[in-house]
Amino acid sequence: MNMNLSSLKFLRSLRKDNHQFAVIGLGRFGRSVCSTLHNLGYQVLATDIDEKRVSEALNEEIVGHALQLDSTEPAALKEAGIFEFDTVIVAIGNYVQESIITTLNAKEGGVPHVVAKASSEVHQKLLKRVGADHVVFPEYEAGCALARTLTKPGILDRFDLDTDHSIVELIVPDEFNGKTIAELQLRNRYGLNMLAVSHDGKFIINPEPTKRLEKGSAMVVIGCNKDINRLPI
Ligand code: ATP
Repeated sequence: MNMNLSSLKFLRSLRKDNHQFAVIGLGRFGRSVCSTLHNLGYQVLATDIDEKRVSEALNEEIVGHALQLDSTEPAALKEAGIFEFDTVIVAIGNYVQESIITTLNAKEGGVPHVVAKASSEVHQKLLKRVGADHVVFPEYEAGCALARTLTKPGILDRFDLDTDHSIVELIVPDEFNGKTIAELQLRNRYGLNMLAVSHDGKFIINPEPTKRLEKGSAMVVIGCNKDINRLPI
């Protein structure tokens, strides 16, 4: 199985005690990252080359701290303390050169986790080449997610392991109602493994084979997309 190990490493590295994030670039994407983190109670330092965007972010109170700097300058990043952050988000989608140089600077400055936003496939490749630990491509990902939601509304969430394999959270299909995991023979019939089942709003991880599934609750499976698509959802 051709697993995308960089993604797995990234998930593992998202430690719960990480409360500090630096966001570079205050476009629509960067601002939404800032305000969400800020509302969740995390410390966020935002930067932009444009002084107006910096003062707007401070006035709108979407971040605790914001600075004007040119992130293509390693010295400016160092001086602002960006290299001390555990996670830096490079939210510069429309300026490929600036985005690549900033990502390179953050990695060379020793930032352990650099997440970068791509705006095209080649941009995505370049970001990976210069060392981004995780690349997001929101327009592409949102399009895929929309198509999936429209065609498979029973799938609540998914994590792509690689192009062919995923971990998927789905609503227990009607056909599975009242059956135990053993009776379903998920592994024999579908080649899937059950990771968790919800019960009273909580997940039971590695459920016993005798666990009976209830209509309306959720289950989490891992396997091949082709097999996941064969589920009666
Ligand atoms: P959109 O807002 O269209 O969804 P986006 O969120 O990817 O796209 P961009 O248009 O790429 O945002 O803008 C990101 C921000 O990055 C802008 O506010 C821009 O001023 C800032 N920026 C560009 N170059 C630099 C740089 N060298 N240093 C710091 N910030 C920069």
